Amino acid sequence: MQAFFEGKYVDMADARVSVMTHALNYGTGVFEGIRGYWNSEEEQLLLFRVREHFERIHRSARIVRINIPYTVDELVDICANVVRSGNFREDVYVRPLAYKSALQIGLSMIVGGPDEPRLVDDDFTLFAVPFGNYLDIEKPIRCTIASWRRVNDNMIPARAKVTGVYINSSMAKTEAVEAGFDEAIMLTHDGHVSEGTGENLFVVRDNRLVTPSVSEDVLEGITRSTIIQIARDELGLETVERPMDRTELFIADELFLVGTGAQISPVSEIDGRIIGDGHIGAVTRALQDLYFDIVRGRQSAYRKWCMSV
Ligand code: PMP
Repeated sequence: MQAFFEGKYVDMADARVSVMTHALNYGTGVFEGIRGYWNSEEEQLLLFRVREHFERIHRSARIVRINIPYTVDELVDICANVVRSGNFREDVYVRPLAYKSALQIGLSMIVGGPDEPRLVDDDFTLFAVPFGNYLDIEKPIRCTIASWRRVNDNMIPARAKVTGVYINSSMAKTEAVEAGFDEAIMLTHDGHVSEGTGENLFVVRDNRLVTPSVSEDVLEGITRSTIIQIARDELGLETVERPMDRTELFIADELFLVGTGAQISPVSEIDGRIIGDGHIGAVTRALQDLYFDIVRGRQSAYRKWCMSV
């Protein structure tokens, strides 16, 4: 197996949905991305901040009115069972997805008429696959400002990790790659910096970290909150959360993107402007060293964030 589907543990090949599925047609799903890191000394696979991911999927589901029939504890168990079944001895990526599973043409998530209204059926699935780096972490990447604006909270909730939202990120990422860049940075509808297509963004300025506040249409990232905490507690660096202008990116001392997939990815250039001296900065490097030690379970103070399967 390696997957959980329609309430059962199944082989990946048997986790299949109908083409009529509401979520496939209308983007009515909420999902997560969780990393498991292989610790070779202990021969253990460690899932990073797994509870926080399932707490967030419950919050996402509440926003878009999807019912997840499992508690956070039950979701953690399902996740551990699926990962264990893969007998992985390498890093993995886990994808939980709660979605409108109804086979229905029509947009409303309420059916049954005015007398007996009810929400259309939901389901929950989860699978795990081997996974390496998503963006470069060894050498800095080159970014462009996307011509597509980040979805606004009053259009599609940006702080919920909704499947349908990701057409916005996909278009921006594709545009960037086609133009020869590694990643796109998205602006909010009113022109402030929001985030990468699948990452939150930090700059280093005058020995402080700055990141767009949660009201700037960002996903409230788990890596973002990890970085804020370890920068303060381990490096004595405070993070200012506030609206940020595009041109602040150009004059940053250092700039990096963070996320479960991206981990900590240094940025050396935005639209032809070199950031800092064009190399990985000292703060970025220090945060990377700490982060990779923590996720592989090598920092006892943070071992509580790692769950062995
Ligand atoms: N922003 C977006 C749009 C994302 O898709 C992700 C990845 N989940 C992030 C930020 C980073 O979030 P996290 O650190 O929780 O993975």
